[in-house]
Amino acid sequence: MTSVKTLIIGGGITGLTFSRCLQRAGDGDFLVLEAEDAPGGLCRSAIIDGHVLDTGGGHFLCSRHPEVYDFIHEHLPRAAFAEFARVSKVRIGGTEVDYPLETNLWQLPEDEAIDYIIATLRNGESRGEPAPTNYAEWMRWRLGDRIADSYLLPYNRKQWGVPAEAMDLNWLHKIPNVRARDVVRACLLRRSDNALMPSHASFFYPRQGGFGAIIDAIAKPVQPHLVLRTPCTRIDRDGDVLCVNGTYRCARVINTAPWDRILPGMDAPGAVRQAGTLLRHNTLQVALYATDVRTDAHWIYVPDPAVAHHREFFIPNYALDSKPGGMYTETELSRWQPDPRALAVYTNAYAYPIPTIGWKDGISIVLDWARTQGVHGVGRWGQWQYFNGDVCIREAMQLHARLA
Ligand SMILES: Cc1cc2nc3c(=O)[nH]c(=O)nc-3n(C[C@H](O)[C@H](O)[C@H](O)COP(=O)(O)OP(=O)(O)OC[C@H]3O[C@@H](n4cnc5c(N)ncnc54)[C@H](O)[C@@H]3O)c2cc1C
Repeated sequence: MTSVKTLIIGGGITGLTFSRCLQRAGDGDFLVLEAEDAPGGLCRSAIIDGHVLDTGGGHFLCSRHPEVYDFIHEHLPRAAFAEFARVSKVRIGGTEVDYPLETNLWQLPEDEAIDYIIATLRNGESRGEPAPTNYAEWMRWRLGDRIADSYLLPYNRKQWGVPAEAMDLNWLHKIPNVRARDVVRACLLRRSDNALMPSHASFFYPRQGGFGAIIDAIAKPVQPHLVLRTPCTRIDRDGDVLCVNGTYRCARVINTAPWDRILPGMDAPGAVRQAGTLLRHNTLQVALYATDVRTDAHWIYVPDPAVAHHREFFIPNYALDSKPGGMYTETELSRWQPDPRALAVYTNAYAYPIPTIGWKDGISIVLDWARTQGVHGVGRWGQWQYFNGDVCIREAMQLHARLA
C-alpha cells in the first residue's frame, strides 16, 4: 500500500497542471495515475515520417486568460511559439468561405449569397417566434433555414455524432454570437467582426514538436510522480481515507478522467449513477495523409454529408518543423471507414463531452456527491464541459487555490 496526500487521476493537461500547482506550492506529496503509457491525453503530438501530427485533432493555443499564458510560458517560453493570424474556412457548395460562414456570406456566388441573406432575414427571431428549446431549433430561429440546412445542421451532425435536436442551449458561448443584423452588416461592409467570435483572430503554435510540446514541458518536472499504464478502476472510502485500486491510500482524489470510467468503481447512490447516464461523449478518428497542400488555410470545415470527415488541417501552414505536404482529418467514429491511404490513424475514445439536454444537471449531481466523498472533478471530463486546454489549465489552477 502506497500513501500520499493527493492522488490525481489522469495525466492530461488538467492533471498535469494541478500537479505543477502542488509542486510549485512546495507540496510533493502526490501521485498521478495515468491509464496510457504517456501523459498528455488529447494534447499529445507525434512525428510521423517528418509530419507533425496532433493526435487528439486540431490543437492551437489561444486564451482570454493571461494567467494561462504565464503558466505555459513558465514551462515553454514565448519564443518557442510562432503566432499566426487564423485562416479557417468553410467549404460549402464548391466555394471556400472564411469562417464563420454567417458573417462571410458575401464571399459566396452572388445569387447564393442573396438566397442565404433572405432566409436569414426570415428567421424565427425576426418573426417573433417562441424561443428555441434545443440547438436545432436555435439554428433556424437565430440564422434561418438556409444556414441551418446547408451548413450548421449537417456540420454539427458530423462533428458531434448526435442530432442537434438532442443538444442543449447552455454551451453556445463556444460558437460565434451572430444575429441577422450582424449578417447584413457584414455583407454591407464585406468584413466579419471579430468581436462576434468566441476566440481570438490569432493563435500560437509551438515552433517544434507540435502542440504536445506544451504538455512535454509541463510534464517534465512532475515525471517522478507519474504512474503510467495504471487506470483507476476503484475508489473506496474508509473514514477520512480514500483507497484507489486497493493500492493507493490518500486524503483526497482529483479526478480528471471521464466520470463514466470512474463512477462504476465507486459506491455511488442510485440517483448519482442515474445522473451519470446523462453524460455523453463522442469518439474521433484522426487520420494523417501525405498530400500537397494547396491552400493558405490552417484548417477547413467540411459540412458536406457525402464526405466522412468534418475538418481538414494543413500541417505545414502552422507547424514550422513539419515536412512539406501533409494534412490530417477529424472524423466522428460512426462515419469512419478504414482508409489505406492514411499514414497513421489515432482513435480518441473520449473527444468531445456532448452537451445533450440534461448534461448540466447530470454533472452537477455527480460533482456534488463526489465532493462529499473527497473526490474533486476538474477539467474537460472531470467537469464534463466543452473546455479547451487553456480553460482546463485555469480550472486546475483555481481548484488548487480553493483547496489550498
Ligand atoms: C478535436 C479537438 C480539438 C481541440 N482543439 C483544441 C484547441 O485548438 N485548443 C485547445 O486549447 N484545446 C483544444 N481541444 C481541447 C483539449 O484537448 C482539452 O480541453 C484538453 O486536452 C483536456 O485535458 P484533460 O486533461 O482535461 O483531459 P484529457 O486530455 O482527455 O486527459 C485525461 C487523461 O485521463 C486519462 N484517463 C482516462 N481514464 C482514466 C482512468 N480510469 N484512470 C487513469 N487515467 C485515465 C487519459 O488517458 C488522459 O490522459 C480540442 C479537443 C479536441 C477533441
